[in-house]
Amino acid sequence: MAEQLPIRILILDDDPFILKLLTRMLANLGFSSVDCSEDGTNALKLLDNVATRPDLILLDLNMPGMDGIEFVRHLVERGYSGSLILVSGEDERMLKTTEKLVQAHKIPILGYLQKPVQPEALRMQLMKMASSLSGQNKKENVPKIYDAEIIKKAITTGELVNYYQPKVRVKTGEVAGVETLVRWHHPVDGVIYPGQFIGVAEQCGLIDLLTETVLKQAFAQAGIWQKLGCDLKVAVNVSMDNLASLDFQDTVVKLATEAGVLPGRIVLEITESQLMGDERISLEILTRLRLKRFHLSIDDFGTGHSSLAQLRDIPFDELKIDQGFVHRASEDETLRAIYDASLALAKQLDMEAVAEGVEDREDWELLRQTGCDLAQGNFIASPMLAEELGAWVKKWRDRIGAEALVSLSEGRVQ
Ligand code: C2E
Ligand code: CA
Ligand code: CA
Repeated sequence: MAEQLPIRILILDDDPFILKLLTRMLANLGFSSVDCSEDGTNALKLLDNVATRPDLILLDLNMPGMDGIEFVRHLVERGYSGSLILVSGEDERMLKTTEKLVQAHKIPILGYLQKPVQPEALRMQLMKMASSLSGQNKKENVPKIYDAEIIKKAITTGELVNYYQPKVRVKTGEVAGVETLVRWHHPVDGVIYPGQFIGVAEQCGLIDLLTETVLKQAFAQAGIWQKLGCDLKVAVNVSMDNLASLDFQDTVVKLATEAGVLPGRIVLEITESQLMGDERISLEILTRLRLKRFHLSIDDFGTGHSSLAQLRDIPFDELKIDQGFVHRASEDETLRAIYDASLALAKQLDMEAVAEGVEDREDWELLRQTGCDLAQGNFIASPMLAEELGAWVKKWRDRIGAEALVSLSEGRVQ
């Protein structure tokens, strides 16, 4: 999905959980060439090898053994010419002082990130890197950033196209619904993924217009499936910025009514890390939409820091375990612990659990063993155009039997 970028990033942090989380956030932003290190000595080895030398280091300040400041000294000795982002749970004053210290050593520092790291803050820092690289020969390696005017034109001229990715029941293989994932069919640059334009749309006040366009298409499609007798739930991603105004719920209700779609067939997905802003308006909108029988889903679960109380406050129907804690969870203890905890929480709070990023048979088997309700990921199907869904359903039904994906006693797919 995300572009493969040759920019090499090294994350140095003694906490394996933070390493996983940051790797996942970077992958979401299109940076896939990432090395992790839990200690400075090992990181220096990567630095000394031409093949693994990073262009950017995300550096934790507080580490047992060699701490961040000592590590910077080693960078200076080695004449490190890449960039640096400091990451720490220390207060801002401490981070600023350290930033000055690093700058004094003439190491190009992009800035600092405070823990818990927010995906948006990371994105802003990386955008700084993109602009500092402009003019250099690495420019083409950085995802293209589109400006607000161009994005607005794309929205209004119908260049945004909805793709749909199936969600299936793990027990029976039944196709339960689809998630709408928007793509930009750019006339010159080809298919552009949401990572390259949603953030700008949010910052430039275009997200309401964008979401409305996506909702309109998705509801029209849901109406078509409803008429065909396909019992599919259609999920749409909602940005927290959409929940800043009370008009949002009226828009959703109006669009669903116009398309003749029952609210119970619509799922609104809200990302966990965005939810933490906790505005009263958003809570009110979500509660009212739930009262109108729209379904609510908490997305990317595990990447935010929601408390039990917050989860109870908002009546979610579904919890989506972030793909970073699903793929390979059967072989990695840390991932498995987070996956298990998320699943248990969903059950306790009476929500349906969806595992995202199911990429292979091992992931699928873990879901079966642990009793996860729903699965989504490339092992089942990649996002596709609406007209491709019928043919995929046929193939999926064949695969269930041929590959013994569900036990026979669980019955057939509907
Ligand atoms: P998300 O909601 O977590 O969506 C899942 C992402 O994982 C999608 O990326 C999907 O294509 C990708 N994916 C699906 N299966 C697999 C798999 O097996 N392995 C891996 N590694 N990835 C998989 P995509 O389409 O690039 O979307 C990225 C994010 O952009 C979405 O994350 C969502 O937060 C946001 N987004 C997408 N469409 C919209 C939209 O219409 N409005 C808003 N506000 N955000 C959107
Ligand atoms: Ca989603
Ligand atoms: Ca997700």
